[in-house]
Amino acid sequence: MKLKFCSLYSGSSGNCQYIKTDNATILVDAGLSGKKIQQEIVNIGEDPKKVDAIFITHEHVDHIKGAGIMSRRLNVPIYANQETWDAMKSCLGEIKPENIKILERQTEIKDLVITPFDISHDAAHPVGYNIFHGNKKISLVTDTGCINDIIVSSITGSDLLLVESNHDEDMVLIGPYPWPLKRRVLGEFGHMSNDTAGDLITKVVKRGTEIVLLGHLSKENNFPQLAYKTVENILKENSIEVNPGICLDMTYRDRSSRVYEI
Ligand SMILES: [Zn+2]
Ligand SMILES: [Zn+2]
Repeated sequence: MKLKFCSLYSGSSGNCQYIKTDNATILVDAGLSGKKIQQEIVNIGEDPKKVDAIFITHEHVDHIKGAGIMSRRLNVPIYANQETWDAMKSCLGEIKPENIKILERQTEIKDLVITPFDISHDAAHPVGYNIFHGNKKISLVTDTGCINDIIVSSITGSDLLLVESNHDEDMVLIGPYPWPLKRRVLGEFGHMSNDTAGDLITKVVKRGTEIVLLGHLSKENNFPQLAYKTVENILKENSIEVNPGICLDMTYRDRSSRVYEI
């Protein structure tokens, strides 16, 4: 009963997460070219042809860019809620009707169970995902401007959590973005800061999560070392030891993360 996770790409320039059991393989988001996604699957020693389905969190281009081509090339279904389908359908190109799957509550792909939960972002109906295999659970939560009780309770008990650590608030404020964009990034429907990520991780680690990956870093408003150190410091302030202790790791905008097996 192995459950594998690898972040193929994560960041404001494109997102794609890879989850595999002995029987099933899914992608969550496909926000880079089909070629890049397939190449990275090969790079981690896996077979792109084994992908069974693609799940979409929301319609922003960094999450859907390669979804249409992957669906056509591999003849696999794309799962998203109705509002996300309405917002993204015209951007995906021709999708076979049988590969258009509306996901509202929960679905199964062979021995994986996938459940979405609502997040707070400026998209039609953005979601995070919980992925279950037996008693194992992976949670993915990126692109959310705030953390609420629904999110915390949804991801509680995960064995592995990918969480957004998008920006450093001071870097956004003094950085090059025009004011409306700064307001969007920092707002309730924008993205999660390093500090907010640290607070959320503290909560879920205290309830048992042991592997945490930081993702969806902004290219302009963050550095991997800054995100890592900020979160590590918040955890230490809360008496949580890191490496050794809980496993805190990074994902990358241009390549895959370590492959985790839980
Ligand atoms: Zn987004
Ligand atoms: Zn995004």
